[in-house]
Amino acid sequence: MIEIELLPAQYGDCIWLRYGETAESLRHVLIDTGFVPTATAIRKRLAEDRTIVFELMVMTHIDADHIEGSAHLFQDAKVVTPARFKEIWFNGWRHLVTAKTAKDTLGSKQGEYLSALIGERGIPWNERFGGAPVYVPPKGKLPRCELDGGLKLTLLSPTLEKLKKLHGYWVKNLAGKLKPGDERAAMKLLAKDKKYAADALGTSTNVAKLAQAKFKEDAAEANGSSIAFLAEYDDKTMLFTGDAHPSVMTSSLARLEPKKKVPIDLFKVSHHGSKNNTSPALLEYIDPVEVVFSTNGKKFNHPDPECVARIIAAKKGRPVTLHFNYATKQTTPWVKNATKTGPNKYEAVAGRDGALTIRL
Ligand SMILES: [Zn+2]
Repeated sequence: MIEIELLPAQYGDCIWLRYGETAESLRHVLIDTGFVPTATAIRKRLAEDRTIVFELMVMTHIDADHIEGSAHLFQDAKVVTPARFKEIWFNGWRHLVTAKTAKDTLGSKQGEYLSALIGERGIPWNERFGGAPVYVPPKGKLPRCELDGGLKLTLLSPTLEKLKKLHGYWVKNLAGKLKPGDERAAMKLLAKDKKYAADALGTSTNVAKLAQAKFKEDAAEANGSSIAFLAEYDDKTMLFTGDAHPSVMTSSLARLEPKKKVPIDLFKVSHHGSKNNTSPALLEYIDPVEVVFSTNGKKFNHPDPECVARIIAAKKGRPVTLHFNYATKQTTPWVKNATKTGPNKYEAVAGRDGALTIRL
């Protein structure tokens, strides 16, 4: 059995994946930690249930809405132990330096904080990659591994190129308006930029019209550095994306053997449903059935209606269910206006205050 739980993570991500033969023998994977309150909830659950062991923890990238809670969680030496966190995948500053072969030692506050804490807690770091950055090499087979209990992972993002860009982005920002490690100021600046673009088409749910909007890919370096992967268990395939760029995922998917449109039982939409992270090209490579959006819509007004419409339109009337972990002014119209017939039919459900569990 497979359970995918979205934790209330405000406008960020925190996904708790469970897999196993029976409800009593479930294994765990954690993808991102959202902000501090989300991490507090995880700490509490780990303290209450000593049997929970994470086979893997993936911190997709350094943006606060994915990583902030980790610095809080990892300070708890009682629950964060090598016995309970078997491995973490995270591309920290040291990996960017490796990617760029530079000698700088600057980094975002949370990124450096987490890096220090991983060491202090003694958690194996990028171990399956020999301690090197987690990335997709330009040629050959995609990196694949199998976790204990049989969950198979195939890495789709980031590329080394995207990690190099993140390095450049970091340095550039340190020299410009932002002070080293001033994540809050960075978020403020980003929020300002995004707001200008967000509301162009309002909260319309006109799929045919919205799906025609021209696609423009996200250019944010941190998002592009996201770890994205396929996870397979029991004939089910899940796609976890962080805030990855669709062109990177598309070119990785094109390298899969055999070459075909991949049936995806569960698709965690990249970047909280931004219209710049789910391209028509990506939707030509995947055929998702359960589609998950993690966001409360604050700050960036996610999900963008163009993104939701593009996903529905690509299905051409085959069954698809949209899962929103929060009922918001952006998501409620999609739930209300779900149509059961025609080429743009879909079903939609909203979680309760950010909490949502899907069983495959
Ligand atoms: Zn994000």
